Amino acid sequence: MKLPEKLQIGGLDYAIEHGGVADESLMRDITVAMHKSTDSVIQIASWLSEQTQQTVFWQNVAYAINYVYLDSVIDNDLLKSLGQGIYQIVEQVIACPRLSRVQIGGVVYSIEKNDVELAAESRLGSTDHSKCRILIMSWLSPQQRNQVFWHEGTHDVDHIYLGGKLKESEVDSFGQGLYQVVRQLGIELVLEDEGAAA
Ligand SMILES: [Zn+2]
Repeated sequence: MKLPEKLQIGGLDYAIEHGGVADESLMRDITVAMHKSTDSVIQIASWLSEQTQQTVFWQNVAYAINYVYLDSVIDNDLLKSLGQGIYQIVEQVIACPRLSRVQIGGVVYSIEKNDVELAAESRLGSTDHSKCRILIMSWLSPQQRNQVFWHEGTHDVDHIYLGGKLKESEVDSFGQGLYQVVRQLGIELVLEDEGAAA
């Protein structure tokens, strides 16, 4: 994925700076990436490997979402892991938008439409960690389905990488912010029977 130059997070317009002035400033601070909340800037060092750039990009997106959507309630250490796990999901959706299984850490979750179990719980989506399943209502619009998917994905990354430290309200806000970001980047999950005509 090519790093974007701009990203809207909540109502803020973030600039993603990469190379040039950003490199000089990061070198001065002896670091490889920076989330500057007061300036709405994310800087990523261009001397990093492609994969490391992507990892730190998603970590800094996690910092920015936490700042904008959550008033910075989540610890930076947790966000670092959260960003890393999110990057793992993002890579798989980019490689194959019609994903039916997603690996998070070492665990493979199946992505299933399941109206019966969800209706019984009055939910649009859920994750069953014991059976490694992400369940999504079949009749949701593409937008709703993606909102549900990134919400459940945040739960799963929290479960696998963070030991389940996030509250439901934190997952909910983070998932909304994440959905706003992935949508701008054109990263979208498609369920199997859709888009056949496209
Ligand atoms: Zn939830």
